[in-house]
Amino acid sequence: LFVTFEGGEGAGKSTQMRLLADSLRARGYDVLTTREPGGSVGAEAVRHVLLSGAAESFGIRMEAILFAAARSDHVEEVIRPALQKGTIVLCDRFMDSSRVYQGITGNLEPAFVETLERVAVNGVIPDRTIIFDLPATVGLERARRRAASGSPDRFEKEQLETHEKRREAFLDIAEADPRRCRVIDAARPPDVIAAEVREIVDALLPD
Ligand code: C5P
Repeated sequence: LFVTFEGGEGAGKSTQMRLLADSLRARGYDVLTTREPGGSVGAEAVRHVLLSGAAESFGIRMEAILFAAARSDHVEEVIRPALQKGTIVLCDRFMDSSRVYQGITGNLEPAFVETLERVAVNGVIPDRTIIFDLPATVGLERARRRAASGSPDRFEKEQLETHEKRREAFLDIAEADPRRCRVIDAARPPDVIAAEVREIVDALLPD
């Protein structure tokens, strides 16, 4: 069983993924939690490059190809082997983040994004994708508080528009693929969200 956690920044997906993993493990399931970019030795090396200052000079195509390269390694070295062992794999961000960040707000043409996705996932598609939906203003505020950067900067307006665009893009993905995707209202209290996440995943587990 492969479940991915998607959404904008500050939506609480990492916390919720951890809570779900704890609850599944307490019930005896073998669970692997992982994240993107990263998750394998090779992909973590690529993550390091992507998050470094050097990446500021990369074009969006190079960035997208690096994300895809990291995803390919992550899939082949970690995710696919775990799934083959029957482990439940929970992943913080996966292919939908590339569709949204590189595709939509990166302005990459859809055919390019689709090709990279197909090559990178190589048949490993999530059984369920939980999309954490939050108004852009709330997500931005949470992310800013987490970064402890304090005061709003002069790019706030542009940032807000970008976040709103991403939110819409995630909702579009959910609408286009209702079999795989579930949207969660991430503005509610954490325990309420955790219960809903458990319910979504429980529906996929054998009795
Ligand atoms: O929210 P999280 O800590 O997972 O964010 C990681 C960051 O990596 C995102 O804010 C986003 O800017 C970036 N990212 C990206 N493209 C992806 C995945 C992550 O730009 N495919």
